[in-house]
Amino acid sequence: GAQRRQTRAPSPSVAHAATAFSDLPEYKQIMAQETAGELLGIGNPFFRSHEGAASATTVVDGRSLINFASYDYLGFNRHPEVLRASKDAIERYGISASASRVVAGERPAHHELEEKLASFYEAEAAVVFVSGYLTNVTTIGTLLGPEDLILHDEFIHNSALVGAKLSGAHRRWFRHNDVAELEKILQSTEGRYRRVLVVVEGVYSMDGDIADLPKLIELKSRFGFWLMVDEAHALGVIGKTGRGTSEHTGCNPRDVDIWMGTLSKTTASCGGYIAGSKALVTLLKGAAGGFVYSVGLAPALAASARTALELIDREPERVARMQSNGKLFFELARARGLDTGVSVGCSVIPLIVGDSMRAAQLSNDLLAAGINVMPIIHPAVPEGLARLRFFITSEHTPQQIEFTVATTAEKLQALVSRNFGVGSVDI
Ligand code: PMP
Repeated sequence: GAQRRQTRAPSPSVAHAATAFSDLPEYKQIMAQETAGELLGIGNPFFRSHEGAASATTVVDGRSLINFASYDYLGFNRHPEVLRASKDAIERYGISASASRVVAGERPAHHELEEKLASFYEAEAAVVFVSGYLTNVTTIGTLLGPEDLILHDEFIHNSALVGAKLSGAHRRWFRHNDVAELEKILQSTEGRYRRVLVVVEGVYSMDGDIADLPKLIELKSRFGFWLMVDEAHALGVIGKTGRGTSEHTGCNPRDVDIWMGTLSKTTASCGGYIAGSKALVTLLKGAAGGFVYSVGLAPALAASARTALELIDREPERVARMQSNGKLFFELARARGLDTGVSVGCSVIPLIVGDSMRAAQLSNDLLAAGINVMPIIHPAVPEGLARLRFFITSEHTPQQIEFTVATTAEKLQALVSRNFGVGSVDI
């Protein structure tokens, strides 16, 4: 029979015990929020277990819900061709790339995806990494150093921020989408740094508005910096043929030095990419720690991402549906007086409701009504600007969208009239 495993107790009475993790202020903050949620009977809205694929609908505890909490923007997570491509790649290459591509070598699936990505951006080359987060961290961390300057939008994704910190470069942020402020900073810092990088997002992940690419490119031609655009929420989503921010704004994609994106959203896979010049890609493949010292992308994930990219062109009606759904949700929400912040009504539509507890309660009320949408609460956003964040996909039906906006408006009105969430819990 199997032997019982003994769990070992920590060694007794050491002279210098390290701080217990449970004493860390970061830990206490998380627990305080959980306790507040429990006191209000909301529970924890995060880490729910879902049965089945993440898409425009999802199943939780056996209940089918309309889902606004997955980034499956074009419905590729259940597309038969995408699934087939991954299964075929598993049959041919196994599950894992087994080691860094520098060590274990490449698989054709890597090149095929990178070539497709490069052509998508009309770029010379592209390289893929095992995560979108890692892509930002290692790319920015590799290209910049302590003699350099990074200028970024205040709402840039955490991964770009962490990359900037890792690089040791000087760092300054400008107000959200405020190109005039960026220009002033560029004027006052001109000539003082070895290299300058400006980082923006194509579509902003928390707010759903779009970078002013024409003005950024104009500034670039005057000040000579590298322009990096994170297309996580723009790929396949904006632009008539889903090419993203350059197509949406009518710019030449070659005027952006570093196109960055993730494979985890529209392409229903996992990983991240950089597209740009051959020299940039060669440099990253040789010097970026997150490429050289990390495993290659699983071939099956590369194959599904490439197939999804091909499908953006072969099934353009998905892009059109995604865009009309975003517009419909946005217009209905505005007509009901809901606060969608600065969103322009594309892939990400926030609904700003006020305090964190109100956002959590509203999310819970909507769950009871059959709608899954996550609250974004302090400290991810400032207190008072807590929100629900809706991810719109091509697969939502107009009826689902109409029902969701109407139900959200009703449930929010009920909370507002009770003054719920304002000073109701002291945490
Ligand atoms: N950039 C942006 C703007 C994002 O929103 C995200 C993830 N939500 C990432 C990068 C990281 O990508 P991934 O989740 O694929 O690691």
